[in-house]
Amino acid sequence: MTESTEFSDQKQIFGHPQGLFYLFFAELWERFSFYGMRALLTLYMIDVIFKALAERDYATAAVYSSYGSLVYASTVIGGKLSDKILGMRNSIFLGGILMSIGHFVLAIENDIAFFLALSLIIVGNGFFKPNISTFVGTLYEKGDPKKDSGFTIFYMGINIGGWVAPLLCGWLAATYGWHYGFGLAGIGMLTGLIVFWRGIQNNVFGDRGLPPNEYVLEKKVLGVKQGILVPVLAVLAAPLIALLLSSYKAVATDGMFADQNIVNIIFTGIGIAVLAYLAYEMYKANVKERKELFVAVLLTFFMTIFWGFHELSGSVITLFAARNIDLEGIMSAAQTNSLNSMFIIILAIPISMMWTWLSKKKWNPRTPYKFGLGLLFAGISFYVLALSGGSANESGFVPFTYLLLMYFLLSVGELFMSPVGLSKMTDLAPMRLIAFIMGVWFLSSAFAFQIVGFIGKQLAIESTDGDVSGFATLSVYTDGFMLIAKYALGAGVIVLLASPLIKKLMGKVH
Ligand code: GLN
Repeated sequence: MTESTEFSDQKQIFGHPQGLFYLFFAELWERFSFYGMRALLTLYMIDVIFKALAERDYATAAVYSSYGSLVYASTVIGGKLSDKILGMRNSIFLGGILMSIGHFVLAIENDIAFFLALSLIIVGNGFFKPNISTFVGTLYEKGDPKKDSGFTIFYMGINIGGWVAPLLCGWLAATYGWHYGFGLAGIGMLTGLIVFWRGIQNNVFGDRGLPPNEYVLEKKVLGVKQGILVPVLAVLAAPLIALLLSSYKAVATDGMFADQNIVNIIFTGIGIAVLAYLAYEMYKANVKERKELFVAVLLTFFMTIFWGFHELSGSVITLFAARNIDLEGIMSAAQTNSLNSMFIIILAIPISMMWTWLSKKKWNPRTPYKFGLGLLFAGISFYVLALSGGSANESGFVPFTYLLLMYFLLSVGELFMSPVGLSKMTDLAPMRLIAFIMGVWFLSSAFAFQIVGFIGKQLAIESTDGDVSGFATLSVYTDGFMLIAKYALGAGVIVLLASPLIKKLMGKVH
């Protein structure tokens, strides 16, 4: 992006730059495709891909966790390539096209197509997701107080997609077949791209999001122009990732399950490398920066724990809904994936108004307290789900109200942590490290999926005679939820106890 970007001549809608609304709808449709597909993913693997295996739950948990880890880890590479070479516009187009192809390939009923599709979505999301979020930031001048509410509006777009998509894709999958559900996700992604393209046509972005300079795309590496090399490498990466993901299928077919697989090992490596690099940066930094960096890492770590439980929604909780919740006449198990986003839409504005109100009274809790409370909310939400076992009917199914209450509490927790943390990262990271720290923040979701995989494997139910439900599965889940509740509550208490100290380290940052 060039320095000449103007802020004052942007057309305004509802007091925000017109461009925000194009990005809002583009991201709404991208998340529509992402969450529509996610709602079907676990059930599709259980019912189709791994159907013949007694260990179908285990294999599903393993693939789901690797997919989730890679889909968020790829954002670090996508962000970097956009900064250095493609620019945000090209990255968003490239990512969007790869994701739509991925969703359409999912509509083909075939194992190879399945793993290739997941890989295309992983690579595509890496280019799309970080860049559209950064693009929002460029619409506002540094320090503009409207920026926060701009991001809240954008977060609403994300969740409108996340709310509607599981309902529609879940309905299509149940009524006409899985592939119609996946196909609709693909159409959603294409719609997002068209909205973004219209924004460029209508010139609402000025000269934002262009490559860093005019020559960079033309510059040759290994005799190929960089502007061509990056998309080609991105496409070539997909079959390699597919190979990684499908190794589970081979392992599963052999009936031998290794707890350590290659994606776990890669993530342990990334974790060690990131921590070592951060230690080096902290060593180089002055005392104030060192303290702030330490807090940024700490908050990211707490966020990882939270997402690790939260992201169970697409795996273990969807399975619990399918096998143990009385959904008769309400919705399908896939559709329960819409509940989190529904509560975010209802609660986002009241909670952000509550922070403003508390600030005026000088009672607004500092960030670490909000994080501690967020983890406590997660703990209570799983406690509610654990208690549901006591109200099971004669077939081992529990009332839907428990799930509804659980998602309500979990969404409150999310709003105490996720948007607050995002804005704190930009305050805590020294200028030279902002991009890297944002990458680390996205990695928190990637690492969280390793936790999701671990829990999913612990709660995997083996069955040689088809899928199981009712009393055969109830206590496995409720005992698991009780354990998760204890860990989350314990983590929340530890964070609250450490908060006075963390607050001191944060200095003036609220
Ligand atoms: N629900 C949010 C989104 O889709 C955050 C998800 C996450 O980071 N795990 O953007």
